[in-house]
Amino acid sequence: MLIYIIIITLIFLVIIGFSARFNYWRFPNKGIPILMYHMVSEEKRGSKINKLRVSPEKFRRQMQYLKEKGYQSISFSGLINYFNTGNLAVKKPVIITFDDGYRDNYINAFPVLKEFGFKAAFFIVTDFIDDDSLWNIEDKEKLMNWDEIKEMFGAGMEIGSHTVSHPLLVNYSREKLFNEIGYSKRALEKILGAEVTCFSYPYGKFDDEAKKVVKKCEYKTACSTKMGKVNLKDDIYSLKRILIRGDETMFDFYLQLTKGKNRL
Ligand SMILES: [Zn+2]
Repeated sequence: MLIYIIIITLIFLVIIGFSARFNYWRFPNKGIPILMYHMVSEEKRGSKINKLRVSPEKFRRQMQYLKEKGYQSISFSGLINYFNTGNLAVKKPVIITFDDGYRDNYINAFPVLKEFGFKAAFFIVTDFIDDDSLWNIEDKEKLMNWDEIKEMFGAGMEIGSHTVSHPLLVNYSREKLFNEIGYSKRALEKILGAEVTCFSYPYGKFDDEAKKVVKKCEYKTACSTKMGKVNLKDDIYSLKRILIRGDETMFDFYLQLTKGKNRL
């Protein structure tokens, strides 16, 4: 008798564990998925940020999946239009974003995006263009240069700001906020010769003061790292996104796209 109780308990625990890891039971969310990528590269031994590296092969598979399922990428201007009018130009929208401006985005992601006809937004840290990601000394990575950023912009990619030096925008003085949020916008606009209207908070974190400065600097959208899909009732200055991690499966990707989350 005891053995049956143990077996049933074990089966029950496995089901609970599986359901927490893969939330297939969640209702589909009708919102727009904003995918958040960082690096598109192979894992590095000893690196603490490997979960932020999606392998080029996996990235390609994900883009292929989006294409096959009929997703069409929209830009943040398209999203603003949706917030203003309630109308969407495409049936299955997706927004693809990359934080930090890693050089591997240009090398490994840009050609794949072009191949499948997708647009994406790249959030750049302006002080470290053509340098390393010096805000994370232990795990520093090469970042894109101006020519690469300009080429992507010329090919229809959106370029947004991720501040001047990637600080945590919490409890920051107003002056420092204006420096980080305003100067980065100006630096990008000067080189691109176009208005830069999308912003992404470093580490996804911000307080009311930071959000106010983002609005004052005339950005029209700002991305956080809160997980989920975007709906019309949401705040366009703290947009939810879906973090795409390198250690997740295509089933995770399907759950994220349909339900906005893949875990409990
Ligand atoms: Zn970042």
